[in-house]
Amino acid sequence: MLRIFNSQSRKKEKFKPIKDKEVSIYVCGMTPYDIAHLGHAFTYVFFDVLVRYLAFSGYKVNYTQNVTDVDDDILRTAKIENKNWKKLGDFWTKKFTQDMEYLNVLPPTHFVKATGSMKRIKKIIQKLLDKNYAYSSGGNIYFDIAAFKNYGKLSRYSRHQMIALSRERGGDPSDPNKKNPLDFVLWQKSKKNEPAWIAPFGTGRPGWHIECSAMVNQFLGDRVDIHGGGKDLIFPHHESEIAQSESYTDKTPFVKYWMHTAMILCNGEKMSKSLGNLIMINELRKYYSGDDIRWYLLSNYYRKPFEYDEYDLKESKKKLLLVKEALEDKKGTIGNFKSDMKTFEALMDDDLSTPETLKFVLELAKKVKKTAGKNKIAFQETLGSVTSTLGFRF
Ligand SMILES: [Zn+2]
Repeated sequence: MLRIFNSQSRKKEKFKPIKDKEVSIYVCGMTPYDIAHLGHAFTYVFFDVLVRYLAFSGYKVNYTQNVTDVDDDILRTAKIENKNWKKLGDFWTKKFTQDMEYLNVLPPTHFVKATGSMKRIKKIIQKLLDKNYAYSSGGNIYFDIAAFKNYGKLSRYSRHQMIALSRERGGDPSDPNKKNPLDFVLWQKSKKNEPAWIAPFGTGRPGWHIECSAMVNQFLGDRVDIHGGGKDLIFPHHESEIAQSESYTDKTPFVKYWMHTAMILCNGEKMSKSLGNLIMINELRKYYSGDDIRWYLLSNYYRKPFEYDEYDLKESKKKLLLVKEALEDKKGTIGNFKSDMKTFEALMDDDLSTPETLKFVLELAKKVKKTAGKNKIAFQETLGSVTSTLGFRF
């Protein structure tokens, strides 16, 4: 039975979806204003493996991933580059999709844009206003965290930490229109040349957090089995999603299992544009196949931060070659090796332990090379089934 680490309880828990045999997953997607880097690839390859493994385990998976296509970052970049914000978004969304295809990341069931959920965004905000979870001030609508008693339950940060992080991650705790520095924007007045939507509470554009709450609600319902994203989204983004969604639906918990991927470091620091230490996927594509990059990423445990090392990426190429040779080795007669599949499942069931699973794949490849006849084909079949479940092309 699958056990996954829930960032909410901070424990490995038995996975039991809300509906039997059906799983709903939402993963926060990209903001299309720049090129995708290895940190993005790590998150989406990991969730791709999770989705593939759930399907392999017999679940019907509804996987929704969004594109944050209207947001401060895009509008700022569009202004600097003197481009149309929509065209800029479409351009980078296309680049992102091409990178994901290269990495053999399966398209989500629903790949949705925030601007496509404007009706739901407005409906939620109106209800939050009606229920006094939100207030209007200075032409903006804010979520009133004092009305939601569990704000902070996911991150468990102190108020002091939350204020500091909010400032670091695009919030504005000093905004004089707020009752509380941690209140966050649901709807804001559009500046000159910014896109604007007509709403009963004022013409403007949505805040970042409400977009995800609305898309989850529209495509997956009031509650969702798994919600994921990079670890840096825990606060304020996911914390605020919980506050909005639970206040809107009165159903709790909004998310049954929260899953977060760790950060990849480069030169000892988190990859970031400002530090200039980003490893871009399109650069790696010049030298490595999608399988090489996938192997490298999966040889790292999803919850553990790691330092980017090109040596390991080169080693991944060699390991893949060994597996490829084993798969292409001459075939014998058909057999069945259930025990190896059981080992694979036990490793994956343990919170998707992909580094251990890849070690097992290598052992299996070595077995194929050493074995002849009936056993060989059985090992090969297992190897083929395991590697395709992990999303390798070969
Ligand atoms: Zn999100």
